[in-house]
Amino acid sequence: AAVDNSPAIVIGSGYGAAVAALRLGQAGIRTLVIEMGGLWNTPGPDGKVFCSTRTPDQRSMWFRTRTEAPLATFLWLDVVNKDISPYPGVLDRVRFANMSVFVGRGVGGGSLVNGSMAVTPPQSYFAEQFPTVDTAEMYSTYFPRARSMLGVNTVDPAWFESTEWYRFTRISRKHAQNAGLKTTFVPSVYDFGHMQREAAGTATRSALAGEVIYGNNHGKRSLDKTYLASALGTGNVTIHTMERAKGIRRASDGTYVVTVDRIDNTGKVVETKEYGCTYLFLGGGSLGTTELLVRAQETGTLPALNASVGAGWGTNGNVMLGRANHLWDTVGENQSTMPVMGIDDWANTSNPVFAEIAPLPTGLEHWVSLYLAITKNPQRASFTYDSATDSAKLGWSAAQSAVSVSMAKKLFDRINSANSTIYRYDLFGSSSKVFADDFTYHPLGGCVLGRATDDYGRVKGYSKLYVTDGSLVPGSIGVNPFVTITALAERTMARVLVEDTAP
Ligand code: FAD
Repeated sequence: AAVDNSPAIVIGSGYGAAVAALRLGQAGIRTLVIEMGGLWNTPGPDGKVFCSTRTPDQRSMWFRTRTEAPLATFLWLDVVNKDISPYPGVLDRVRFANMSVFVGRGVGGGSLVNGSMAVTPPQSYFAEQFPTVDTAEMYSTYFPRARSMLGVNTVDPAWFESTEWYRFTRISRKHAQNAGLKTTFVPSVYDFGHMQREAAGTATRSALAGEVIYGNNHGKRSLDKTYLASALGTGNVTIHTMERAKGIRRASDGTYVVTVDRIDNTGKVVETKEYGCTYLFLGGGSLGTTELLVRAQETGTLPALNASVGAGWGTNGNVMLGRANHLWDTVGENQSTMPVMGIDDWANTSNPVFAEIAPLPTGLEHWVSLYLAITKNPQRASFTYDSATDSAKLGWSAAQSAVSVSMAKKLFDRINSANSTIYRYDLFGSSSKVFADDFTYHPLGGCVLGRATDDYGRVKGYSKLYVTDGSLVPGSIGVNPFVTITALAERTMARVLVEDTAP
């Protein structure tokens, strides 16, 4: 018999999980949230909860002896990464054969480390990716609900045009326009009122102090300040941290039993326990949820899972690259870490790309224009369970990344040619690497909506078992994904609470 029983369990505490926890709590259903990372609310010896990208310490990464930032080098020098002591830090880089995936660890998941860009996909592309979802209802009800709950806001255009902190963005906009390309403002969950006060010197700097991928101490509306705070406020939700869900099985009465390893700050498993529940919501993200399901399928604890479990995974076509500007096109030593603009060439059917204009906040003038391109790469891969390591393996190949690179290259060759500029060769570790195609910020899929689940995230083959996170998205959504993940989770919860939990 399970040790501890709750009506509902939510695994993870990122976007999909946070929505589930809040809506369950509001419905009066006692809910346990299980998160493998820590709770980020206690200042360290320096008085800060999170460390900055410029002086990373043990808080930066999940059990590493050296940081593994996306930009490996600067002027080919190994100056970016630093030695650290192993600790349950906030950013993880999960390495597979040809692809590594950045994910957040802690209460709030990816919201603790991401760039805050809160983008709603073009309606036509959403409809293409989710043919069985009522698109009109998504855009009239669930996307607006997600944006309002997440606290989405937009930069004041007048301030944007005048502030030194977005000079890097204006330069990239000019170069895109010189190539006849369209740019668009990108909304954010970073509080721009706070950012303007940072610039004015009346608020403690965070976005203007190099803080982003290892957490923001101020200004960011991460999930612990929005959905999860409200969830705890219902009085029905409890969060357990430093507990990693491992196994899922079904008891003879149809309830679920979740096996959990509790770890300490050295990563050692200090306790293994079991929790029981009637309703089980999987919100461990594309990697976390898919691993739990392929393990349950292969080890026979959930044998009725269907063949689509593990499939349909993609990188959202992510490619990072830098361009070298002319000496007169300075990007500024002061750069906000929060992107606010993208080059939008998604409507170009021969080469759809949406490229966000990314900061490189080193504190020095470096003449680099940096981008994270989202390309419409149709390649997909699958996860399989590897019993030797008791983990999921990803079948992504280098050739599949090359598809994203060739699309990004087409767009940026145009920009370079219109501006007589070249790529930067010094940023990604080897002298010839211009396109960083070996990592993604946007892991999507593994348990795709309508294939491994029904059209509302109910896992096929089982009742009262749900997926609410990025594993539902079929490998690509064309923009930064968290608004879509949040909106889909709102849609699932609205349906499930009416249809599945009636007494
Ligand atoms: P996640 O947010 O990944 O949450 C999953 C949680 O579950 C994590 O806390 C994890 O520790 C926990 N977990 C996993 N497995 C287990 C387990 N077995 N047991 C217990 N807990 C578990 N997206 C945007 O839209 N805009 C951006 O600007 C943006 N920038 C990004 C920048 C970076 C550096 C990164 C890494 C990502 C960025 N993203 C951005 C992507 C975005 O953060 C993710 O798409 C989003 O967080 C995914 O939400 P999710 O609910 O699927 O899972």
